[in-house]
Amino acid sequence: MPRPILATIHLAALSHNLARVRTAAPDAKVWAVVKANAYGHGIERVFDALRSADGFALLDLDEARRLRALDWRGPILLLEGCFEARDLELCSRLGLWHTIHCQEQIDMLAAHKTQLPHRVFLKMNTGMNRLGFTPERFRAAWIRLNALPQVDEISLMQHFPDADGPKGITAQLQAFDAVTHDLPGERTLSNSAAILRHTGALAGRSDWVRPGIVLYGSAPDFPEHSAAGWDLQPTMTLSSRIIGLQTLAAGDTVGYGSSFVAEGLMRIGVVACGYADGYPRHCPTGTPVLVNGVRTRMVGRVSMDMITVDLTPVPKAGMGSEVTLWGRASKGGAMLSIDEVARAASTVGYELMCAVAPRVPFAPL
Ligand code: PLP
Repeated sequence: MPRPILATIHLAALSHNLARVRTAAPDAKVWAVVKANAYGHGIERVFDALRSADGFALLDLDEARRLRALDWRGPILLLEGCFEARDLELCSRLGLWHTIHCQEQIDMLAAHKTQLPHRVFLKMNTGMNRLGFTPERFRAAWIRLNALPQVDEISLMQHFPDADGPKGITAQLQAFDAVTHDLPGERTLSNSAAILRHTGALAGRSDWVRPGIVLYGSAPDFPEHSAAGWDLQPTMTLSSRIIGLQTLAAGDTVGYGSSFVAEGLMRIGVVACGYADGYPRHCPTGTPVLVNGVRTRMVGRVSMDMITVDLTPVPKAGMGSEVTLWGRASKGGAMLSIDEVARAASTVGYELMCAVAPRVPFAPL
């Protein structure tokens, strides 16, 4: 019998979340962001559910090739552009848009001998201070690119550093507008947080939006709303089963480090899921889990292949009972948000979904 762990991908939820983006940004085309193997879901698994997107944005040529192999003929954007000169040829043969964020990428393009046109998104650094030209250097970069015979189309891009936080987007919008107001070309400004939270300020300003995490039913790091509050549906369930049972007396401990000490008689379920499956090792005692759809808590340290859970609220649970680490229980409609588990581990839903290990089997639903 295979080890009973499974990541289920909810295809209808992916389509629902894409529709949710469309209602928040009705005038914009949508780059569905599928980098990091579709945030851990698998590009091939999510493709059909997201194929009504206007384009796909991703990380590298390998991911782009996989999309073309699925017969996607529409736009694809390389979010970090080409990493070396030899990528440029394949980039244009695959018909990709690519980001230009630094002088070295412009030099690479200028030295590139090709008949095939390049379509690029020139990126401004409006304060994230990762990739992009500063507002002061942006126009010079645009002028140089515009003079290159290799370049067919220049669009404009920036990325918000704090669209889900207190600083918001005002300073970035001002910096972007001040430099680009008279430049031609399409614009792409917004990630998930900006799409959901700054709908009014951004209305009509983006030709393209770039949602990632909302497509996967997790909220950006908002203080005010959960994913469900934004009408997002979870797209991944990580589930397993109880493979062992223990009865503890007061003073007994569980797992490495003996960190959890029973206060009285209690039953413990041993679950086939550990940090080698992608369950965060930082989850402390108290992290929520569902057993047979009933909410209870993880106790003790997360091991490589197992966790242990308190069965007190689920007296009927036994060997083989279903455990939902995040997502939906198979019966009864109970749900455990990936964001809640992420918070317990002091991280974000993005990291949990990207970290599900290759040894975990996936099934689309
Ligand atoms: N655009 C760019 C340039 C990104 O790097 C990312 C993700 O990090 C996104 C869009 C999507 O962001 P989110 O998943 O927060 O929507």
